[in-house]
Amino acid sequence: MTRTLPDGTEVTFPAHLADAVVGVDEDGDLVASADWAVPGETEFLYPLTPCCHATGKGMDSGLDDDFGGVGCRNCYQWVDPKYGGFVTPEQVTRWL
Ligand SMILES: [Zn+2]
Repeated sequence: MTRTLPDGTEVTFPAHLADAVVGVDEDGDLVASADWAVPGETEFLYPLTPCCHATGKGMDSGLDDDFGGVGCRNCYQWVDPKYGGFVTPEQVTRWL
């Protein structure tokens, strides 16, 4: 499905994400809103991976027991550590 940003940019993403995705972040990645919030906040926003529109997860390097970084929860490719975290409401550009 397609949603439109305030600047007229159209963003296409899988229809099953329609209820969760609220907009995009500064990098243009889809941002989803969880159905729960951290204490003191009204919502919990997190970026979705560009490859699969999935969340990130911590993964070890496979070489030793060290924490390796963040991977895509769907395809297990390495992704930027930002996908293992959350974004603030100020970082999100929401749909029109
Ligand atoms: Zn992926």
